[in-house]
Amino acid sequence: MNKTVFIIVDGLADLPIKQLKNKTPLDYAIKSNLYKFLKHSKFAYPSVLGNFAPQSDSGVMADLGYDPLKYSTGRGWFECLGLDMQPKDGDLSIRVNFGSVKNGKLNSVRTYMSNQELEELSEEINKKVNLREDFQFKAGEDYRAGLVFRHSKNVFSQFVSNNEPGYTAKFFKNGAKISFATGVKDREIHKVKAVRKEAVYTASLLNEFILKSSSVIKNSKVYKERKKKGLDAPNYLFLRDAANKDPKLPNINQKYGRNWAAVVGMPLEKGISTAAGMTLISTSEEKDIKRDFYDKVEKTTKALSKFDAVYLHIKQADAVSHLGKFHEKYAIIEDIDKIIISKLANVLDLDKDTLVLTCDHATSSELKRHLNSNIPVLISNNKFGFSSNFSEVSCSNNHIKGIKKAVDIMPFVMSL
Ligand SMILES: [Zn+2]
Repeated sequence: MNKTVFIIVDGLADLPIKQLKNKTPLDYAIKSNLYKFLKHSKFAYPSVLGNFAPQSDSGVMADLGYDPLKYSTGRGWFECLGLDMQPKDGDLSIRVNFGSVKNGKLNSVRTYMSNQELEELSEEINKKVNLREDFQFKAGEDYRAGLVFRHSKNVFSQFVSNNEPGYTAKFFKNGAKISFATGVKDREIHKVKAVRKEAVYTASLLNEFILKSSSVIKNSKVYKERKKKGLDAPNYLFLRDAANKDPKLPNINQKYGRNWAAVVGMPLEKGISTAAGMTLISTSEEKDIKRDFYDKVEKTTKALSKFDAVYLHIKQADAVSHLGKFHEKYAIIEDIDKIIISKLANVLDLDKDTLVLTCDHATSSELKRHLNSNIPVLISNNKFGFSSNFSEVSCSNNHIKGIKKAVDIMPFVMSL
């Protein structure tokens, strides 16, 4: 059977930047290995969620063919599933950021730490925070964690706001819940609020958890040592996207009759792939970007001998965009070309296999936040003729008309 490699580069798309000759990082980057795929390719330029700026959860769901407006029950579900916390219907699963508050105002929503520090803090929270309900707290990567309250006689509700200020939860009539990247508007510290009456208990439980955890963090060894070294120290937790239901994604292998594997390193993407029925190829996020790319493309190549299709997720482009580092962003895109695309050009059979290169959403590295822009998509297959230079502009100028939304990409690709 023909093979498919589906690459999602997190936050790949961007806006033109003056210092890059008014080009976007994707346009500015030299991508000479991609030329082999451009010889037989078409572009698409779909919207992800219309006017809303998506987070990665809805962007990735849409790219993989699952309409977030239909399926999403809240990012927390995928995040905790990906952390192997095994959420069940009725549990409350939440995504957590370690951040900090200064003089009662927001200082940072992301305090980067080593994995060891993150694990030590998580361990302390599990041991020392006493609440009315059972919970499990688990370290993720850098500043991220997962939190699951286990189903009890009290019903947990997903109708709560986020206290993480950059993302606003929206609830849809059909039961879907999605947070949108709305940006940090002020420096106020907000409590978790009940959006509906039934969520009053859940909101008060989460606020109590935040308060008690913050006090545990401030008394921890990690906090004191970071303070002593003059490093940013976390002293507060920001929660978002509480989910209490299984999103029940239809199995991707059955849907398209192909056997899928996922080479993904972050809990969120692990969670979505698992929920979609893909086989996870064990991998972690290497801090050294080049080493990470070599590792991931190696695993993708190996997976291709056993699976029909591989979803490969590259995280780093989004992270540097949030930090405003557009020079690093185009350098990352060039490394993707040199390390990942060059290898795939040798491994894939360009006469019959398919390569997809796209992203989950655009992230502006000048504004340091996600955008609601359409996303560039490259679909390379022998059926197509030559397309020149893969960029936002070329996709906007010349694209497959039938792919209007990101959810349309996968059915199109799987029909090739
Ligand atoms: Zn992002």
